[in-house]
Amino acid sequence: MKTDTAPLRTTRSHAEYQALDAAHHLHPFTDFKALQARGARVITHGQGVYLYDADGQRILDGMAGLWCVNLGYGRSELAHAAAQQMQQLAYYNNFFNTSHPPAIELAQLLAQIAPPNMSRVFFTNSGSEANDTVVRMVRRYWQLCRQPERQIIISRNNAYHGSTIASASLGGMAAMHAQGGLPIAGIEHIEQPYWYAHGGRLSPEQFGLYAAGWLRSRIEALGPQRVAAFIAEPIQGAGGVIVPPDSYWPEISRICEEFDILLVMDEVVCGFGRIGHWFGSQHYGLQPDLMSFAKGLSSGYLPIGGVMLADRIADVLIEQGGEFNHGFTTSGHPTCAAVAIENISIMHREKIIDRVRDDIGPYFQRRLRELLDHELVGEVRGVGLLAAIQMCADKRHRTPFAQAGEAGVLCRDHSFRLGLVMRAVDDSMILSPPLVISHQQVDELLQIVRTALDCTLKSLRHS
Ligand code: PMP
Repeated sequence: MKTDTAPLRTTRSHAEYQALDAAHHLHPFTDFKALQARGARVITHGQGVYLYDADGQRILDGMAGLWCVNLGYGRSELAHAAAQQMQQLAYYNNFFNTSHPPAIELAQLLAQIAPPNMSRVFFTNSGSEANDTVVRMVRRYWQLCRQPERQIIISRNNAYHGSTIASASLGGMAAMHAQGGLPIAGIEHIEQPYWYAHGGRLSPEQFGLYAAGWLRSRIEALGPQRVAAFIAEPIQGAGGVIVPPDSYWPEISRICEEFDILLVMDEVVCGFGRIGHWFGSQHYGLQPDLMSFAKGLSSGYLPIGGVMLADRIADVLIEQGGEFNHGFTTSGHPTCAAVAIENISIMHREKIIDRVRDDIGPYFQRRLRELLDHELVGEVRGVGLLAAIQMCADKRHRTPFAQAGEAGVLCRDHSFRLGLVMRAVDDSMILSPPLVISHQQVDELLQIVRTALDCTLKSLRHS
């Protein structure tokens, strides 16, 4: 039964919001019952790198929302771009031989910042839809190349590629696969290049080559003529910010070329400046055949994503494909596209990419590495404004905790209480702050992280 039909305002108390939330709202990736008992922390506004909850408590957002609010909260230019576009043409589709200026201009802007061999984009609303689109495009491509038996897409364990049926299948999250009969047919997974956990006595460089070798052996086991593509994030995000050893990507690239397998980079987290380039592939000198992205394209202000294609792939789909039977009502939505255009323009104007690559990124990484003196911290890894602090039981031997994930949850909760959003992936603490974070705010963040680590150590000793 509906208990209240009045429009919601931020004038309710935190407790009232929590009660309504518990009564009516099912949250993504959440234990519904546990949240009902605990009550959600209700965030009511944001400014710059800070969030504020319904009690007025300030929280430094060390995760930029979900790795997406790259320009920070409260950017009026983005709000104006949306308002203006809504008044001029709030919606029109790009089906049936029509287009509109925001989609056209955004497509051109993307072609200008993408690697030079990529000049075309297909728009979606999310990263999940972008990766579903990848599956459709890759299989269609090989069909048109008269190799329809090339159906299999190889991905990696603990990859996150989205939550729709196909993108969750591409992902390598065991907990997701366990709940819905996933993965769908034709998706294979190899191990992630996680040196700290799996590298044993190998050096990172040796391990990088060894991990790339898993791709070769899987291709050979499946039969190269059946493999369509390999998909991966340049740096695995939700899987624990897994930064591959330097030897990994060149070898993967070589293997894909050798077997004529398409290389698909999921740029949903790494794209749009996160690791100091427009796309993470550029940091690693990769030449992907397809790139999926979303999140940072609009700084998360409105939902928009897409897939860019190397010209050699796009040309086949265009010249030989006829109608491509795929698309979404809001593919290239004019209001979302207008916001994305303004977002990219601000990134150009404020030289955000250079700042992350040459200034704030290196500062953030250097300061984080000071935490290596902490008893709990075994490794700090990351590039630009993306990082993980790996906690462990015994750092001399890279020994994990007996109960995986306990320290991570403790540290996350201490951090949140102390006024910083950090995310835990097992016992790695993840950071991905807005790209506009200042040096002083990085210092503030570091201070809270250290206190949270100290509190975690105390809690572990008492548990
Ligand atoms: N790919 C990666 C690498 C992601 O991190 C995410 C989301 N966290 C997705 C795809 C899915 O994006 P969305 O949630 O917008 O569907």
